[in-house]
Amino acid sequence: MIDVLRLPLIGRILKHRRGRLALQVPFLLIALLLIYDGFTGTPLAAQNLATIVPWVHFRGFAILVLLLAGNLFCMGCPFTLPRTLAKRLSLSGRRFPRLLRGKWLSIGALLLLFFLYEWLDLWASPALTAWVIVAYFAASFVLEAAFSESAFCKYVCPLGAFNFVYSTAAPTRIGVHDADVCKSCVGRECLNGSYSPQPIILIDQIGVDGAPTKAHIHNKTGVPGCGTLLFAPQIQSNLDCTLCLDCVRACPHDNVGLFTRAPGAELTQPDAWHKRYDLSFLIIGLAFMGLLNAFGMIPPVYALMSDLIDALGLRALGWSGLALEGIALLTIFAGGGVVLPALLTFSAASAARALTRTTHRDSLRAALTAFAPAFVPIGAGFWLAHYSFHLWIGFFTIVPAFQAFLLDHRIGILGQPNWLLGGEPNLTLVGLLQTLALLGGFIGSLSVASRIALRLYRRGSFLGLLPWALLLLALMLVGLWVFGQPMEMRGALFD
Ligand code: SF4
Ligand code: SF4
Repeated sequence: MIDVLRLPLIGRILKHRRGRLALQVPFLLIALLLIYDGFTGTPLAAQNLATIVPWVHFRGFAILVLLLAGNLFCMGCPFTLPRTLAKRLSLSGRRFPRLLRGKWLSIGALLLLFFLYEWLDLWASPALTAWVIVAYFAASFVLEAAFSESAFCKYVCPLGAFNFVYSTAAPTRIGVHDADVCKSCVGRECLNGSYSPQPIILIDQIGVDGAPTKAHIHNKTGVPGCGTLLFAPQIQSNLDCTLCLDCVRACPHDNVGLFTRAPGAELTQPDAWHKRYDLSFLIIGLAFMGLLNAFGMIPPVYALMSDLIDALGLRALGWSGLALEGIALLTIFAGGGVVLPALLTFSAASAARALTRTTHRDSLRAALTAFAPAFVPIGAGFWLAHYSFHLWIGFFTIVPAFQAFLLDHRIGILGQPNWLLGGEPNLTLVGLLQTLALLGGFIGSLSVASRIALRLYRRGSFLGLLPWALLLLALMLVGLWVFGQPMEMRGALFD
């Protein structure tokens, strides 16, 4: 295992007190630019930065970077920048209400975002997209000001929830170099933060000659501990880790590192996963939402919406088309994103218990939650196939859009925009890559599920795996059908 933070240049940059800020400031400037262009620029989605950058580039790079490196987008997230200011305003320092401490709010926020995205055509509206970004800043600020921990990141943020789930497949994770050092650590600054106006010299860092080998100096504002309340020596999973590296900077023993590992290693480690329904349905629901989100972009969705409106007898009410579309979409999202995943996974867990005769040994919750990690690879495959499609199709649109933005403000240094930059996309190649993403995700999920089945059911593992394997196969086949349909090229000029 390599500690990335001990690599010569990159390690120094990341560990630097302002290291995260160096990433956040550019992201903040981009967010402000998007808000500005969203409110003042052209309403044409394929020519406005506010719609191109988040819906074409950000989403595509986010899933790629998550799988290849880790949660770098939470690390650079500009929405957490108001945190410092909000923390100073915080008077109460209360914890987030116990009842809401889970992933149910995140699941609700994800469903709401996906629903609004389709219903209000956020991808086609620069102004509405700008409002979404403003809402993010406001929600993050208010929750940071009101509560002691990073409540927005941990319990609410839909982007964070997405990043947390797929960072479990990433090839890096926070950990400690020496667990024994943590056992004798008094301050546990990685969690609690360190605040001291005085320079501190640690007694375990005094050399044989009596001189300190290292002085750990905190300034008056100190170093914050983990905002999402993770304790470095106990971390087994990337879930809830925003990769802020505060724990690294706070640890007075220089004991925290960012270690490389086999991608997806934690998916088969039972200790890494809490047996909670909220967490499990976040993971499972995201895989289903990956399909649902792509389904919202193919022609059959319009036929289904029309059928639903007829079946529910909504036309007779005389409501507007937008309202009817909203109800139909809400029905599809509630059915495909909540009811169907719950129904199918409870059925699979029940069938596995019955087939392996473990009904008395394992509760339904234990049987279901144990297999939740198996939905990470297939979900990642769906999102990769979907978002890389937009990234591939619309990759170059950012160049003429930025040129046009500059020209609108009488800055002609980059010349005239060429809206056909990049040419026609090679759809055969895109389709091939999408199929590879789907198959790769399915094989990854099957491999994780078979290891879980082996751990749980030993000699009965084949029967224990069977219902889950069939469910994963059905999802993959639906995925192949959805991605085989002609898809709207949102955000591109070829639509
Ligand atoms: S990681 Fe550092 S601060 Fe945290 S318990 Fe271990 S030695 Fe202490
Ligand atoms: S402080 Fe917490 S969230 Fe930040 S990198 Fe460390 S473990 Fe992750």
